[in-house]
Amino acid sequence: QRELLETLKGKENVTRSGQKINLYANIANVSDVGAALRNDAGGIGLFRSEFLYLENETYPTEEQQFAAYRQVAEMMAGKRVIIRTLDIGADKQVGYFNLEKEDNPAMGFRAIRICLTRPELFKTQLRAIFRASAYGQIAIMFPMIISVSEVRRIKEIMDEVKIGLRADGIAFSNQIETGIMIETPAAVMISRELAKEVDFFSVGTNDLTQYTLAIDRQNRNLDSFYDSHHPAVLSMIQMAAENAHAEGKWIGICGELAADLSLTERFLQMNIDELSVAPGMILPLRKKIREL
Ligand code: PEP
Ligand code: MG
Repeated sequence: QRELLETLKGKENVTRSGQKINLYANIANVSDVGAALRNDAGGIGLFRSEFLYLENETYPTEEQQFAAYRQVAEMMAGKRVIIRTLDIGADKQVGYFNLEKEDNPAMGFRAIRICLTRPELFKTQLRAIFRASAYGQIAIMFPMIISVSEVRRIKEIMDEVKIGLRADGIAFSNQIETGIMIETPAAVMISRELAKEVDFFSVGTNDLTQYTLAIDRQNRNLDSFYDSHHPAVLSMIQMAAENAHAEGKWIGICGELAADLSLTERFLQMNIDELSVAPGMILPLRKKIREL
């Protein structure tokens, strides 16, 4: 099986009828890039930046973050690297953030909500990401979005960061794509409006399932109810795809569902542009796509 997959390296992700799709890798650390490259990833579809915060005793500095992002950008040598901004809170707690204990952390103070409340923290990360964009093809995406106003506020903050970098004479690309994760039902329902604001969507099916089905993804007692194949979840993905494309934007899926071979055909029918999966799933997916 593994040998068969090896023969697929260097081949296109194309169906028999000629439909193509990008297959990217999800990574959680710089050390995962090797596996992404070995498995022929077309890019990084989700770089979970949390590791920088989780592995540190205190807030990682701009230099520390820049070094990590730059290294990934350089290793990927011009292929797209989508860095997701800080997604701390809920299942990912970090002591030095001094977050209040919450009764419903999954519905609480997490991800972009923290970044918009603590803009200095957010700006440090944005500066590091922008600086890395001078060394590869960096894209940036924001987790847990629920409204257009959040996206507009993010853009204002990004503009402030760019002004700061220019004033400091620091290089960055002016072609950084900006996207949002679609992982709340709210984002799906207003996806036509959101699509006007950004360059791309990436569906986080882990959280989208959690919030659509009202099932805590951490609660092991609910595992038998946590069904990402639920027609409501699949309809949401379809709706987000239609609205992205209606505005001329592209859409990927980076949650666990992207690697589900029993749904690959459905995703192709929805004209999903990119699937981002664990590196080891890229070649099995390529095989599946080439057989369809
Ligand atoms: C998701 O929610 O599907 C996702 C990709 O993000 P995370 O699993 O890191 O919350
Ligand atoms: Mg998520």
